[in-house]
Amino acid sequence: MPAPAIVWFRRDLRLTDLPTLLAARDRSTHALAVFVLDDALLRPSGTPRTGFLAGCLRALDADLDGRLLLVRGDPVEAIPRLARAIGADSVHVSADFGPYGRQRDEVVETEMAASGIPLVRTGSPYAVTPGRISTKAGTPYKVFTSYRRAWLEHGWRSPAATTVDTLAWLDPAELPPLAGSLRCSAPGALPDVGNKRDDPALPPPGEAAALRRWRTFRDERFSGYDVHRDRPDRDATTRLSPYLKFGCIHPRTVLHDLRDSAGPAASVLRSELAWRDFYADVLFHRPDTARRNYNARFDAMRYDAGPDAEAAFDAWRAGRTGYPIVDAGMRQLLGEGWMHNRVRMITASFLTKDLHLPWWRGARHFMKHLVDGDLASNQHGWQWTAGCGTDAAPYFRVFNPVTQGERFDPDGDYVRRWVPELRHVGGKAVHRPWARGAAAPLFAVNGPVSADGPVSTGATGYADTSVYPPPIVDHAEERVVALARFGELG
Ligand SMILES: Cc1cc2nc3c(=O)[nH]c(=O)nc-3n(C[C@H](O)[C@H](O)[C@H](O)COP(=O)(O)OP(=O)(O)OC[C@H]3O[C@@H](n4cnc5c(N)ncnc54)[C@H](O)[C@@H]3O)c2cc1C
Repeated sequence: MPAPAIVWFRRDLRLTDLPTLLAARDRSTHALAVFVLDDALLRPSGTPRTGFLAGCLRALDADLDGRLLLVRGDPVEAIPRLARAIGADSVHVSADFGPYGRQRDEVVETEMAASGIPLVRTGSPYAVTPGRISTKAGTPYKVFTSYRRAWLEHGWRSPAATTVDTLAWLDPAELPPLAGSLRCSAPGALPDVGNKRDDPALPPPGEAAALRRWRTFRDERFSGYDVHRDRPDRDATTRLSPYLKFGCIHPRTVLHDLRDSAGPAASVLRSELAWRDFYADVLFHRPDTARRNYNARFDAMRYDAGPDAEAAFDAWRAGRTGYPIVDAGMRQLLGEGWMHNRVRMITASFLTKDLHLPWWRGARHFMKHLVDGDLASNQHGWQWTAGCGTDAAPYFRVFNPVTQGERFDPDGDYVRRWVPELRHVGGKAVHRPWARGAAAPLFAVNGPVSADGPVSTGATGYADTSVYPPPIVDHAEERVVALARFGELG
């Protein structure tokens, strides 16, 4: 029997449309399927993402008829050891373009080269691989619209014809005893990886669920996507983001299904997928922007600090700012591990421009709670909203949380779903609860709030979660402050 290949799964937890499998089959008839639980990636993930990942791994294991080997440890050590232990011909991955993944793969590659085992990268989690397209001058794109034009011209491959039967899968139970400290377990067990009983409602995990979600959306709701996608009160977007994050479905599959659709819904959905590729491309060229401003001019921005700023941050995280659309969004994040795109923009704008706090604090909170938390899309979604990112979203575009709510949640249903204290307020009046009766005073936050859920006890006011808090800041005033600080940047 020829030496087996290893298929090292990472952000590609599926078996259809997976070019990696074809590359492995070119070298071998059989392969070992491996996933490494890497603490460096698990640590910043909250329970929604690790819980969803655990579910996706179980689904992949079931699709592989129980033949997914799960290893806990540092991949830099685990993969080369495993490859040597089973006498692997080669290790196959879909390329990672994030700052951490790229570096990790280079070290794994070097480590295995000493044993003559190549790391073979085939495909990526994107329709157009980061770094593939550039301007005529050979520089990376800095503006989305030009990137999208080039992206559409470049196009993408058709889905790869793969299934579970593309390779014969080795049974991990029949492997020779694996070297000492490799901690292996069956995905069914997944002891420390989320999925606690108090987890938020997660989408059903795995490839079959991803395909089901996409096909149902395509067949039942797709035609109104361009018109309704900005409405958080409706189920009007694909909700594919968690599946795309873990590669339960590849964007190529979606784009292929859209190939004969010329209408506005298809055009807008293609654009959204282009944003995903664009941000991955930006992060590929500027890995520093995972932590730093894309536009260095913003390094001089003044932020609020001190106890009031911390209390405001806590109120924002807990969904207790007194601005209903902001609070609904922040509670949806805690409740579902997901937030509608329009509301991500509104809540991010509120943190950076109404509370004058740095974007990376909000981005870290999102990354902890989002089931689709993705470094490129999240950090650059935040930077775009804060005004320091690509496309020079003008800093003076400060989202008004009240008019945004009235426009995009016109009947108030989204707010009432997530803010039970306001369920008695009908229609769009829910976006201005202070306008009912005597005007509530504006005051600074000084009550205990929790970022991890409602405060269960509390004496009065906004610490009492049965009472909806008055606004913690005056939007009109803070807008002026935000613009003044922007003006200081020179
Ligand atoms: C502050 C902020 C943080 C964000 N953080 C993330 C994140 O961590 N992970 C993430 O996947 N998306 C992030 N986004 C982008 C966007 O909000 C989500 O992709 C979208 O809400 C997911 O819902 P959907 O799958 O129903 O989207 P749909 O409208 O159905 O779009 C289809 C797909 O296109 C991609 N897409 C859509 N909009 C964007 C966008 N603006 N940027 C990049 N890709 C996009 C996503 O992969 C999405 O699944 C963020 C946006 C903002 C403003």
